[in-house]
Amino acid sequence: MTDCIFCQFSQGKTDQKKIYENEKFFSVFDINQKVPGHSLVISKEHFVTTLDIPDELGKELLDCIKKTAKKAIEKENATGFNIVNNNSSSAGQEVHHVHYHILPRKEGDKSPLVY
Ligand code: AMP
Ligand code: ZN
Repeated sequence: MTDCIFCQFSQGKTDQKKIYENEKFFSVFDINQKVPGHSLVISKEHFVTTLDIPDELGKELLDCIKKTAKKAIEKENATGFNIVNNNSSSAGQEVHHVHYHILPRKEGDKSPLVY
């Protein structure tokens, strides 16, 4: 989809630096950092929500989430992380190309609101 910002990332049409990528998913830092290290895991193909992702991509999705979370945690000296995935406008999805927020967390920090 040409008017989709995450499809443009996927096709390399921006200079947004990738944190990690495999054959099916990649990750970038969110432009609006809800917490330091806030990252997005994004599918290379245009799927709208998690329900649209073919089951066989599960392994690549988990790989990209884990590698991205480890890098973000290391970078921020965090001790934990949240994964948030908004599906459809009613659930707060603003970019209608499936993505997973990775939010590094530290003891006693402020809870980020991402939906
Ligand atoms: P959601 O509400 O789950 O659809 O989240 C969409 C996320 O995409 C928000 O956290 C935005 O800050 C983020 N976002 C939108 N445009 C960009 C961009 N150009 N680069 C990085 N993140 C973006
Ligand atoms: Zn897209």
